[in-house]
Amino acid sequence: MSHTRISPALRQAVAERSGHRCSYCQTAESITGSLFTVDHIVPESLGGQTALDNLCLACWECNLLKHDRIIATDPETGATVRLFNPNTQAWREHFSWQMVGLLIVGLTSTGRATVNAIRLNRPALVNARRLWIQIGSHPPQD
Ligand SMILES: [Zn+2]
Repeated sequence: MSHTRISPALRQAVAERSGHRCSYCQTAESITGSLFTVDHIVPESLGGQTALDNLCLACWECNLLKHDRIIATDPETGATVRLFNPNTQAWREHFSWQMVGLLIVGLTSTGRATVNAIRLNRPALVNARRLWIQIGSHPPQD
């Protein structure tokens, strides 16, 4: 969670770098009716800096569910692994869309642990995706 104030310029740089999407669930900020938060990838409580390299855009729920964690359990192997780092790892190497964008599946230990820990297929989000798919606004094409 964020405690240090983030300047508008830094927030803008983070949002642009994240493609104005949540770095975890990939929801586009423009279709949610709310401005997303800035997540400290390594939380301040663990020494993470308020600097572009350690910040990403995240929707409110992903930010809340991630909380101050940097590790989680891969539900398939039981291994403890680092959560997905959107600034050093490519989303598409760790996750993929299933059912035309309704569900996110983890492709790697990191992907599976992150899907599980941040609940990237939480029911309210899956319901919203169903609507976004119908209007052609989801999933992201790049
Ligand atoms: Zn999210």
